[in-house]
Amino acid sequence: MKNKSSILLIYTGGTIGMVNDPKTGRLQPFDFKHLNEQIPELSKFAVRIDHITFEKPIDSSNMQPGTWIRLAQLIEKNYARYDGFVILHGSDTMAYTASALSFMLENLGKPVILTGSQLPIGTIRTDGKENLITSIEIAAARKKGKPIISEVCVYFEYRLYRGNRTHKWNSEQFRAFQSPNYPLLAEAGVHLNYHPAAFLENSGKKLKVHNKLDTGVAILKLFPGITEAVVYAVLGAKGVKAVILETFGSGNASTESWFIRALEKAVRRGIIILNITQCNAGSVIQGRYETSSQLQRIGVAGGGDMTTEAAVTKLMFLLGQTKDRKKLMRMLASSLRGEISL
Ligand code: ASP
Repeated sequence: MKNKSSILLIYTGGTIGMVNDPKTGRLQPFDFKHLNEQIPELSKFAVRIDHITFEKPIDSSNMQPGTWIRLAQLIEKNYARYDGFVILHGSDTMAYTASALSFMLENLGKPVILTGSQLPIGTIRTDGKENLITSIEIAAARKKGKPIISEVCVYFEYRLYRGNRTHKWNSEQFRAFQSPNYPLLAEAGVHLNYHPAAFLENSGKKLKVHNKLDTGVAILKLFPGITEAVVYAVLGAKGVKAVILETFGSGNASTESWFIRALEKAVRRGIIILNITQCNAGSVIQGRYETSSQLQRIGVAGGGDMTTEAAVTKLMFLLGQTKDRKKLMRMLASSLRGEISL
């Protein structure tokens, strides 16, 4: 058994690696080399750290499914050589990337930890140092020669979350993420306290990387006063195969006949409609109120307590996997990577 863990650090961009452009004063991505200069502690780790940096680091608002495929392939290519992976990523779309990777990496047996920061690494009060150092420690952690964590996670501000349960909820606080419907996997204080009862079970099977994603997905967020034209525009948008309906409370929506008719017609055309709540926490329970039983009747799928981020990426993943609608609906309703409570 080897005793020194090895980690692959993948730098995609984001605030963690940003500096102020002296001319414009705006934050811009910079070269990964500076990250090593900024955190000399990295060289003191009893961990071998190799790194790959994107030739053009991006603000994560520019993240695209093509980059998720690139990340999944990088992990696949380097899977045997490393004990764990740390992905440095902007926090804005980190929950989407973490969710997408969780679906794409089936039978993952090693940790993939996404982290970033609210303040650039070069600033005195940066949160980036702790986030990066502890992420590396978690990605390298083993017990009896086996990785402690074997799933896609987000680490931010002393907390380790299941990636596909996270949501960026605060654009200013260091605690930028929440996992409203699932407990923490670990907390970092004086000790790193793991909560194994919350971990995904390691299947022990061979890693299978899926790299087909279909972006024919849309979100229709309801609000009082939404017009028929808007509803039809989203449901009928070119190329859309699945629509996430962001409903009120426990999955409720207007019972007005034009609205139900619009949804019913879309379902008949083969559009998948998934009911996700606009609430930050809690679950969709179709049929609990009269205002959701209609949805159930016309074939809208209940999304349980999935986040919008998990719903979007799960649909992209499933549409890329199969054309068999029944199979897709079955998989949509089941927990593939711990993204939904059943
Ligand atoms: N706009 C940045 C990004 O998501 C914010 C961050 O890094 O936290 O890339």
